[in-house]
Amino acid sequence: MITSTIASHSALQIIQGAKKEGFKTRLYVSPKRKPFYASLPLLDELRVTEDMSKILYDEGIIIPHGSFVAYLGIENIERSKAKFFGNKRFLKWETKFELVNKALKKANIPQVESFDLSEVKDNELYFVRIEGPKGGSEHFIAYGRDLEEKLKNVRTPYKIERFIDGIFIYVHFFYSPIKERLELMGVDERLVIADANKRRPFKALPYTIVGNKLIVLRESLIPEIYDYGLAFVEAMHNLEKPGIIGPFALHFAYDGEFHCIGFASRIDGGSNVNHWYSSLYNGEEIMMGLRIAREIRLALEEERLDEVIT
Ligand code: ATP
Repeated sequence: MITSTIASHSALQIIQGAKKEGFKTRLYVSPKRKPFYASLPLLDELRVTEDMSKILYDEGIIIPHGSFVAYLGIENIERSKAKFFGNKRFLKWETKFELVNKALKKANIPQVESFDLSEVKDNELYFVRIEGPKGGSEHFIAYGRDLEEKLKNVRTPYKIERFIDGIFIYVHFFYSPIKERLELMGVDERLVIADANKRRPFKALPYTIVGNKLIVLRESLIPEIYDYGLAFVEAMHNLEKPGIIGPFALHFAYDGEFHCIGFASRIDGGSNVNHWYSSLYNGEEIMMGLRIAREIRLALEEERLDEVIT
């Protein structure tokens, strides 16, 4: 059995996990990234191509990650006859505000407050979120008085959010249909360029994500977060059959209360940080990529592969 993915985002932990579980590994890589990926002894096959859509005809098990929708387009993924690990129809849910709102509402997860342009106050600071996961690079902050002018150049759908003076945490879950269990795998925070404001007085800087840092939560916060995870799994089970299979993440701002700012409907880049929470379920610290490969192996052993692929 071979597992395939695209060389970016979280491909490293995906192929490492697949290899550890005894699968062969195949990567689709663009020519300019070839030297690094070709140096990895973990790889059985490297397909060097500018055209990532070739993966849609792959005969192995495809493990999608955060670059898939951007590279391939959601319609092409949903139309593809290839075997995807997870529910391929769940992938679109993070990409549109309308779907994000619908999912979070159904799960009863409190969302960050958002405003119409007509409601903003001149001297309040706002966070403008641009639709679609793009690693944070297009979001920006502005005072109410400047918003109308700044939004004139914005062509993509946006959301004017309350600027939250708080901590941003990204919670990584794995839902196992084989074990019928939701596992808390880890928590991270993003390192963004705007963090430089910690070292220099206020200046509008980009929210481009550069990396991730492990976070350990105050233990008393975990049960509430886990309940949100369970509610989200249940909501998606009703909204997009067969529901969530495998990895997802809930993204929160916390200022004494949790405000959900979005989610990842696939392995989240922040799970590239190894976290000991995964050992609570798996006996040892394991990465999300390995957890995915284990689910595939378990499903194969129990002849239930059709329950983890779509
Ligand atoms: P990713 O796809 O990796 O999750 P993204 O585009 O969804 O990125 P977010 O993770 O939602 O972007 O936000 C990036 C960063 O922007 C956060 O870590 C936080 O520093 C800041 N941020 C997000 N929402 C707000 C908000 N409402 N108020 C203040 N800062 C915010």
